[in-house]
Amino acid sequence: MRRILIIDAIPTRRIVMKAKLGAAQYDVVVAADAREADQHIRTMPFDVIFADRHLDGPGGALGLCRTLKSHTTTQHVPLVMITDALADQDVLDALAAGYDDVIRRPLSERVLLAQLRALMRRQNGADQNGEQTYLRDMPDTAAKVTRPTRLAIVASSLNDARHCAGAIADAVSSPPPPQIMVQDHAGILTALRAEPELDTVLLMVEPGREEAALTLLSDLRSRGAARGAGLILAMDPKQPTYVARAFDLGADYVVSCDANAKELRIRAELLAKIKLQDDALRLKVRDGLRMAITDPLTGVYNRRFATEKLGQIARKQEEFAVLMLDLDHFKKINDLHGHGVGDQVLATIARALKANLRDTDMLARIGGEEFLIALPGATPAQAIGTAERLRQVIDETKIKAPATGRAVRVTSSIGLVHNDGRAPSIEVLMAKADEALYCAKSHGRNMVSVSAAA
Ligand code: GH3
Ligand code: MG
Ligand code: MG
Repeated sequence: MRRILIIDAIPTRRIVMKAKLGAAQYDVVVAADAREADQHIRTMPFDVIFADRHLDGPGGALGLCRTLKSHTTTQHVPLVMITDALADQDVLDALAAGYDDVIRRPLSERVLLAQLRALMRRQNGADQNGEQTYLRDMPDTAAKVTRPTRLAIVASSLNDARHCAGAIADAVSSPPPPQIMVQDHAGILTALRAEPELDTVLLMVEPGREEAALTLLSDLRSRGAARGAGLILAMDPKQPTYVARAFDLGADYVVSCDANAKELRIRAELLAKIKLQDDALRLKVRDGLRMAITDPLTGVYNRRFATEKLGQIARKQEEFAVLMLDLDHFKKINDLHGHGVGDQVLATIARALKANLRDTDMLARIGGEEFLIALPGATPAQAIGTAERLRQVIDETKIKAPATGRAVRVTSSIGLVHNDGRAPSIEVLMAKADEALYCAKSHGRNMVSVSAAA
């Protein structure tokens, strides 16, 4: 059950919120001030925190925000300010202090619940199956995503969109201005086909045109360049049904039609920041996956992946061949030219092998100077042909030793085993290929040796 913390000095409001959210199956914990909230936060995790703008204690609601956003346990928990005030400056101050959203009273229960769902959804998206902590702790492997953010402003008329874009570009804010594209409702889907990925979309909705705008919102969410973007809808806040639906269809923020440019700019920047963080996280996941299955020196698959893959090939019950390839007298290369050159030779050979195999073949480095190659669908004759070609390619590959300028030559021995689709077991196949390799070594190296069918 999702747990929500409500911080509000007024007891009746706490009771009402607790009843409303409790009825919607949330576990609600209440606190009268920042001190009481702190005690709860120390003992249990929360999914969302709501704070009233008027809180007792040092720094009030803004101070509380700074504290929560600086603690590792609470910095990623969505924090929402609830306020009676209508002054734009209060909203700006709250967002600038780090609040994830600001909502104004009177609260529509329907909108509140939809907004909660939107916050949780965003949180879940960033959380990649609850493994965010683990991912955050993983070292950064990919370069950080640093590029100007891309904002699309979409209004009923191109003129309105342009007008809004001008105001947003002029609004004073610290990060560099986003790249802004403008479009009208009718043209945006077509225009996006040619666009690179967007970070934020601001969709301006004229009163009376909500229905069409919500359809456009679902379209933007489901395809193309705006799919992963943060979405802001500027619409009539006195239409709770539409506002709630906007949240459920994928809006991150719903603001009033007359929200000022500075607020729009700050909200767009907040969403763009989340988008860039998500992008970075995705790169991290991709890199993590790649690292788990490849060998860092040569970039080809590692032993663990190779055995899994070989099992998969064998289960298809089609004929295939396995090649065990070992470089000859590799120790001598290290002794003569140094370990660094040895590494260079390994990387060059891996590249040459890869370039001479089909996409469907598998190449893995399974030991120091030992490679395993699987050729799915290969007949015995084809497999022998490939093995012989690979042996020759290695024989002809020359690597220049940087220190001496001399060409380093290396040869290989290959053990081959063919299987007609009734593989006994991967272990037996590998042992047969190993035996054949040993045979090639003992018969003078730089040759292919074929095992009796396994
Ligand atoms: P053989 O023809 O019988 O295979 O002789 P060999 O010297 O290739 O075989 P041996 O197994 O005696 O030695 C393999 C050498 O490969 C020993 C080790 O120093 C070297 N080696 C293993 N892994 C690496 C590596 O990652 N980088 C470098 N530079 N050398 C490696
Ligand atoms: Mg060797
Ligand atoms: Mg070896």
